[in-house]
Parts: sequence; C-alpha cells; structure tokens
Amino acid sequence: MENTKNKITIAIDGHSSTGKSTLAKALAKHLNYIYVDTGAMYRAVTWYAINNDLINSSGINEIALINSLDKISIGFTNISGKNHTNVNGLDVEGYIRGLEVANWVSKIASIPQVRKKLVAEQQYLGREKGVVMDGRDIGTVVFPDAELKFFMTADAKVRAQRRYDELTEKGESVNFEEVLSNVKERDFMDENREDSPLRKAKDAVLVDNSEMSREEQLEKILSLVKKLDI
Ligand code: C5P
Repeated sequence: MENTKNKITIAIDGHSSTGKSTLAKALAKHLNYIYVDTGAMYRAVTWYAINNDLINSSGINEIALINSLDKISIGFTNISGKNHTNVNGLDVEGYIRGLEVANWVSKIASIPQVRKKLVAEQQYLGREKGVVMDGRDIGTVVFPDAELKFFMTADAKVRAQRRYDELTEKGESVNFEEVLSNVKERDFMDENREDSPLRKAKDAVLVDNSEMSREEQLEKILSLVKKLDI
C-alpha cells in the first residue's frame, strides 16, 4: 500500500507475547512506516543494569541505575531487514530476548525515572508520525492522541507456548512452566505498577488472538487502516 496521504500514529499495546511486534513490523512494512519496539528499550536498560552490576542477588540498585540513566544511549540499526537494538553502540539484540532479561525487565520498567527517559525518547522517535509503536502504554501515555490504537491479548498458555517455541528455536534451554510463570508475572507487574500501568485505552480496538493466525490479524488490522483512508 503506497502511503501518499497524511501519515498517522499507530499504537499497539497489550499483554506479553501476544505477537505485538510481529504484527507491528508487518504493518509498518506494509505502510512504509517506521517501527519502534519500545519493549526492546526497556530490555536494553535491563541489559545495561545486569552488565554493570546494578542488579545482584539482593535486587536492583535503583539509585545507582537512576544516576546512570544519562549514560545509557539506546539506538536501533537495521541489519538485513531485521531490527537490532544497540546500547552505547553495542549490538545487544542477541542478549535482550532471553529469560535473564525477561525476569527483571518489568521491575526495571516500574521505575518512574526509567519510564520518563524512555517515554521522552519514544515521543521524539514518533514526532513526525508515520510510525507503528508497540508496548504497554503507547495508546495511554506515549501517544494518547494516536489515530489508531490496538490492544492485543490472548490466553496466557497460548502466549507462553509461543514464547517457549521462540526461545527453544533460538537454542535457549528453558522449560514451559518457567516461561508461563514469567509471562503471568510480567502481566501482573505491568498491570499493577503505579506509573503507567498496562490498560486498554478507551478508544483502542481489542484483538484477542488466541485463535487467530498472524495473517488473519494483519488482515483484520489492515481493513481498519484502509477505512481511515490514509
Ligand atoms: O514487549 P516486551 O515483552 O519486549 O516488553 C518487555 C517488558 O518491558 C514488558 O514486560 C514491560 O514490563 C516493559 N514495557 C513497558 N512499557 C512499554 C514496553 C515494555 O513497561 N511501553
């Protein structure tokens, strides 16, 4: 689809492992829009904290992390059509998707100073519209005026199975119960944190994809985009 008219902002929020990023990427490609994976930005900060001894067995050293935020520069590069997340120029894509980062990321994402920094960066990245952004607070906090908002969910077991398949395909050795409990725990923490909890924006379209294929989802969403005549 050629984007010749007014560019809009598309916000895709929802629970963990609902395939938000797969859908957001496909949509961005189709519309020739920018895609921003905001979860990767929270994962990048978490990776930095783990690798700079700001997390240990007793938990996160919040004060030290907050004081280090100015030193964390997050960027994206495109390598053979795939988005790679960088921290201070280092490609961390291969590290941020595993369970170690997943186990800490929602705690890191509940720190208001972390959110403030990343939300400002996200608003900057999307300032010219023509963007598909996925996360937890895009339609509620980052771009409350987005023209099109989706909220994705699916049964927790279905989501854990998808994540489990992804991780094992990458060679990570995990067990299903561990992945399921991480998915549920992240949902709980994301929905119950004080700052910008995960909520469906009133004007977001609910997509439950427990029993939908990727193609069906993209088709459904594209039909809504087409109605906007962009
Ligand atoms: O989307 P993804 O699963 O990669 O996000 C990782 C974590 O980052 C989420 O579980 C959530 O805690 C946090 N996050 C957030 N706000 C966003 C995007 C992600 O709090 N906009």
